Amino acid sequence: HRASISRSSHLPAISADGMEFQVLGNIELAEEVVSVRDHGGNGIGLLRTEFLYLSRNNFPGETELFEQYREVLELMAPAPVTFRTLDINGDKAISYTLTPEEANPALGLRAIRFCLKKKEVFKTQLRAILRAAAYGNAQIMFPMISCLEEVREARKLLRACAKELAGEEKRHNPEIPVGIMIEVPSAVVMADVLAREVDFFSIGTNDLVQYLLAIDRGNPQVAHLYNSLNPAVLRMLKRIVDEADKAGISVAMCGEMAGDPFHLPVLMGLGIRELSMNPQSIPAIKDMIRNMEGHECRLFTESLLEKSQTQEVMDAISLKYGKFM
Ligand code: PEP
Ligand code: MG
Repeated sequence: HRASISRSSHLPAISADGMEFQVLGNIELAEEVVSVRDHGGNGIGLLRTEFLYLSRNNFPGETELFEQYREVLELMAPAPVTFRTLDINGDKAISYTLTPEEANPALGLRAIRFCLKKKEVFKTQLRAILRAAAYGNAQIMFPMISCLEEVREARKLLRACAKELAGEEKRHNPEIPVGIMIEVPSAVVMADVLAREVDFFSIGTNDLVQYLLAIDRGNPQVAHLYNSLNPAVLRMLKRIVDEADKAGISVAMCGEMAGDPFHLPVLMGLGIRELSMNPQSIPAIKDMIRNMEGHECRLFTESLLEKSQTQEVMDAISLKYGKFM
């Protein structure tokens, strides 16, 4: 079975009825680019840039970041790389920045909230991404967006950085596509408004499920309640895709849900054509896409959206698609 996976993993992911999907990798460090390529990934859908900030004593400087980012882009070119700006605090605290202790870090000064407060740290990263973007196919994405103001402020800082770089005559790409993660329920509610402001959405189900169902993703006591197939989650996913379609922007998924074969019929059925996951999951997902009918998944998912309990959704998937897994 392993051998068949490695032989087919570099073929495109086209469903039995001709729908093409992009299957990409989630990585944390530049070294992992090789793994995405070896597993047949069509690019990097999520570069968790915070990992370069962990396990050290101070914030990395622009040159160091630029060099790392450029390396990733050059190794991956012409395939796309989506740089997610710093998502620290929450479950990933860094030791060298003094932020007061928080009772609820997941609801605290995390990700874009941190960056909009520590503007110099943020701008250093934005400048490095803009400069690296001149060397490959780069996209930029902001995490934990919960309202329009945050998108506008982040984009304003990005424009200011591009202007600075132009003034300094430093090579950069001011035309880099800009997207946001959809991982906070308020962003789903406001998806129609947010879709008009950005080039793409990427759904972060790890946090979206946590915040939507009010279940700490790291707490074993309530882990059994955490389920991406909860009907409330499915309705949210449907809304995100519908609003992205209406605005004519693309929608990807980069949460763990994207790499789980059990969830694939639903994601194909919702019309999510870009899935980003742990590199090791790529070959099996590509294989499964090739064996499935996209339009059949669509009809099936419409019927799932009528269900009112998680277990009913799971039973229906096992019954119809269990044989593919
Ligand atoms: C997510 O929340 O689904 C996501 C991809 O981001 P992270 O897991 O890094 O929070
Ligand atoms: Mg997240």
